Amino acid sequence: MPGTSTIDVKCVKCKNVFEAVVIDHIDLSEDADLIRNLKAGKANRVQCPKCRKVMYLDRSLVINFEPQSLIVVYDSKAKSKAKKEVHRREFESVTAFNETLSELAGETEFQVVSDLPTLKKLIDEYAKMYVI
Ligand SMILES: [Zn+2]
Repeated sequence: MPGTSTIDVKCVKCKNVFEAVVIDHIDLSEDADLIRNLKAGKANRVQCPKCRKVMYLDRSLVINFEPQSLIVVYDSKAKSKAKKEVHRREFESVTAFNETLSELAGETEFQVVSDLPTLKKLIDEYAKMYVI
């Protein structure tokens, strides 16, 4: 099961505000069914309950490439070095206070990816290696 949270979404068509469950965290070894959507940049699909408009939310996502020791934050808005650094610091502060996580972080490569072709390439390489 992917990690999710509930957020308020405003419909781009009718301006209705509704609650939607969105994906924050994907583990590729467990959530292989999400890979196709992920590669298309459509991991977070929501539908307005009022007018049925379908939207794909452009949110940042944490992707765990288990059993590769790689964690990727995909954020299409993190183009600059400074914005990538914000994700890195966040990752470090989350892992620093948890013994298990900080051990894990020491062995794990952390990357911030902001463009879909790069993310696709990483996922394709992963899929080839682990045949999913
Ligand atoms: Zn709507």
